[in-house]
Amino acid sequence: MAHAFFGGIHPNDMKAATNEKAIEQLAAAPAQVVIPMSQHIGAPCKPLVAVGDTVKVGQRIGEPGGFVSAPIHASVSGKVVAVEPREFGMGGKMLSVVIENDMQNTISEEVKPVENPDALTPEQLVEIVKNAGIVGMGGATFPTHIKISGGIGKVDTVIINAAECEPYITGDHRTILERTGEVIGGAALLAKMFGLDVVHVGIEENKMNAVEVLRKAIAETHAPVVVDVFHTRYPQGAEKQLCQAVTGRQVPPGALPAAVGCAVFNLNTTCAIYRAVYQGMPVVSKVVTVSGSGVVEPKNVECPIGTPISHLFDHCGGLKETTFKIIMGGPMMGLAQYSTDVPIAKGSGAILAFAENEDKTVENPTCIRCGKCVGVCPMHLEPLYMYMYERKGMLEELEAANVLDCIECGACTYTCPGRLHLVHTFRSGKQKVNMAKAAAKAAAEAAAAKDAEKAEKKEA
Ligand code: SF4
Ligand code: SF4
Repeated sequence: MAHAFFGGIHPNDMKAATNEKAIEQLAAAPAQVVIPMSQHIGAPCKPLVAVGDTVKVGQRIGEPGGFVSAPIHASVSGKVVAVEPREFGMGGKMLSVVIENDMQNTISEEVKPVENPDALTPEQLVEIVKNAGIVGMGGATFPTHIKISGGIGKVDTVIINAAECEPYITGDHRTILERTGEVIGGAALLAKMFGLDVVHVGIEENKMNAVEVLRKAIAETHAPVVVDVFHTRYPQGAEKQLCQAVTGRQVPPGALPAAVGCAVFNLNTTCAIYRAVYQGMPVVSKVVTVSGSGVVEPKNVECPIGTPISHLFDHCGGLKETTFKIIMGGPMMGLAQYSTDVPIAKGSGAILAFAENEDKTVENPTCIRCGKCVGVCPMHLEPLYMYMYERKGMLEELEAANVLDCIECGACTYTCPGRLHLVHTFRSGKQKVNMAKAAAKAAAEAAAAKDAEKAEKKEA
């Protein structure tokens, strides 16, 4: 029996446009891919290739830039034509390797399936995950090998996040239906790495055909996996809400799921673990939902990492003339894009385009103090006050209101009748609070160093 979480909303899921369509491969591969050297939380990668080099699919082209980082691999074979900053989906520019596709799809000699996967130790499996550049592919993009190695021995509940609670997105749903073996195989590998008897897969009840397919496969293969079905409520797929739904444990403010013995992995991440171990293939492709009222023929498409989003729109019949907004990610948590040149990265699960009369912005957003935002916030925050503090530059009050606990789910923005840009404001508010904290820490360290220097001089 799933445990309920506080707050949340019930938006129209808008999934019918794609949830019955099989995942398609691109009709024509992209002529060029642009592969950003940062597709993860942590230090960007250092390019291992230069202009003029030839590369093959699965070849490592980006070396991790620090402990928290993940390698990056070529997604097509061809020639490196540029190594330079290019626009990317997170905003601004990022050093990227641009590869001209030779359309040969030549696989690198580095891609080697393991001979006897069943004989691998948990440590050897983690090493494979690390070398395959696997990150949280639902958008969080935290390096997976660090989450696993940090959780072994501490985590007693592993949850595969198949809630896919954002409207429009159906890539995970289709993956369960079409690649069931990868999901179950990846989950079994996670069970082995954590030394657990069972791994949970959490799904919302609007995907019962996926639940049935999974349960049938689990029964047939005796896999160490159970399926938990949740009520459909946004943001059911948020890490903390999933932990509560499966275990009844509440992750404390400011803490990670590991604090209550849980680790959550995205469904795509789970499949990537399976492919890395059984096929030797690192992360080189992504299933992306291309949907929204601006897309002529919405679809789920699998494409090489680095494919420009314009190429995906072309595959889906193009954009309607009245398109006014493009979002990378879901409508609740995604980021608005101002160019169709930005490439698909490891964390990109959807590209949405909106057209016609869907623009709901107003000229002068105003808070009418209705309190609806408080009632839907799954983190028990008070968005109306946080908004006021941010607008007035009251950073101490903003921090005291726990803005850093905001998971940027967008439930408050969705429900706000005053049409305030709440989640956008909290994103920038969190940045400002973090910057102010970093500045205060640096000032305190500088003062301490000065005091120590003075004391030293005195002694001398
Ligand atoms: S929902 Fe919007 S209008 Fe209502 S109190 Fe919150 S911020 Fe104000
Ligand atoms: S975006 Fe932040 S403040 Fe708004 S509902 Fe979600 S967690 Fe609460």
